Amino acid sequence: TGRIELRQVTKVYRRGTDQEVRALDAVDVKIDPGSSVAVTGPSGAGKSTMLHLIGAMDRPDSGEVEVDGERLELMRDRQLDDYRRRIGFVFQRFHLLPALTALDNVLAPVITDRRRAKAARARATDLLRLVGLRDRAASLPSQLSGGQMQRVAIARALIGAPRLLLADEPTGNLDSDTGKEILELLLSLCESENMTLVMVTHNDEVAAACQRTIVLRDGRITSDTRGSGG
Ligand code: ADP
Ligand code: ADP
Repeated sequence: TGRIELRQVTKVYRRGTDQEVRALDAVDVKIDPGSSVAVTGPSGAGKSTMLHLIGAMDRPDSGEVEVDGERLELMRDRQLDDYRRRIGFVFQRFHLLPALTALDNVLAPVITDRRRAKAARARATDLLRLVGLRDRAASLPSQLSGGQMQRVAIARALIGAPRLLLADEPTGNLDSDTGKEILELLLSLCESENMTLVMVTHNDEVAAACQRTIVLRDGRITSDTRGSGG
């Protein structure tokens, strides 16, 4: 699953009393479940805002954000918490906790009682294996390369069995070979775990590997193309 629909979504940020920015301006978009979508466009175009609205990290000023038939803007805080648990986020700068091992970073989003702790550790170990880090469970982030840190972050994003993976410049801090590996990993996970991938990127090669590329400019979609990727 992971069907996303934005209908006439507008997000306005106010700066001081008289200045306002239309980060998104009446955006309409439908994203098929299980598909991979790149969102590109110049800095300030509204890309992160779109991700944040889909991930319920922020609310629209007007319009509807619907995921798998549920309207996010109508949800109460507790429903939003449940919803966010089924979303995986991956960031440019990994955002790992430096004092925790790779395994504990993967476990960080999970709050469990003692009864379920063992099962959670087993799942985290499986996820580290899935991202190719079977032997690095006990490593600290400082002992890992950038690509390995992003793999840990991806395993962490998967711990809640998300239906959506939202990635903000996931390759932006990696050299191009490592970036390609991470991209391949994200695309193959999206397929094997049946997740929708929405990825902000400035990299045309990365975008071309996705099934679809949406270009934003000044809060509007200026181009929407289905490529050969995926
Ligand atoms: P992109 O990700 O494409 O660079 P963003 O979605 O981050 O664009 O930002 C879109 C516009 O909204 C920009 O003009 C940005 O400065 C503005 N903006 C984003 N977040 C905030 C905020 N929290 N407060 C004020 N303005 C913001
Ligand atoms: P940058 O490297 O430019 O800081 P990131 O991709 O790391 O960009 O982060 C993208 C956005 O997500 C930022 O606005 C940041 O504040 C927010 N963010 C980063 N980490 C988290 C997190 N763990 N939970 C929620 N929001 C986050």
